[in-house]
Amino acid sequence: MKYSRLFINTILDTVNIVDLLENEYDYYLIPNNNGWYTTHCPMPNHSDNSPSFGVNEDSNYYNCFGCGATGDVISLVMNIEDISFSGAVAKLAALCNLTDTADEYTLEKTIKDFNSSVNEYLNRETNSSLPGGVSENEFKFIFATRVKKLSENIDWQEQQYKVFDDLCLSHDHVKIANLWKNLKKNLQN
Ligand SMILES: [Zn+2]
Repeated sequence: MKYSRLFINTILDTVNIVDLLENEYDYYLIPNNNGWYTTHCPMPNHSDNSPSFGVNEDSNYYNCFGCGATGDVISLVMNIEDISFSGAVAKLAALCNLTDTADEYTLEKTIKDFNSSVNEYLNRETNSSLPGGVSENEFKFIFATRVKKLSENIDWQEQQYKVFDDLCLSHDHVKIANLWKNLKKNLQN
């Protein structure tokens, strides 16, 4: 079954990634700052003791710092259950009691579809000012995790956090990107 872009966007907006993991898959999620939660990685090929799997309730994305898995609620279901894209959409649609009415195609829907594609593109463009095209919250989480992981090797950790916080407050994405680029280089010196 082929689903309309509009319907897929509705699914992505409706399903809460935290509720999905807790209620559908019985994961226990530990709340952190800025809408982030952590738990053990549900990816079938990752036996995770840490727990290193982060999900963000605001962006509805997940990010595993152990195996590098990242994506939205649809890809999460695809991975956990080893099913196709449309299989995952069907499952989530059933969970939310949603039906795709795109077969009754109207001009209004065409315009809505187009608008949502444009908005998606614009959001992506804004986000891509940060390394890897991630959102600000995702980036903060990645940054904090990376610094923490390497903290044995650095004594300038606190200063880095301060610089980073100031840049985030001023939304200076270019400088944040440079800081990110230099992080690994500095650690090797
Ligand atoms: Zn993982």
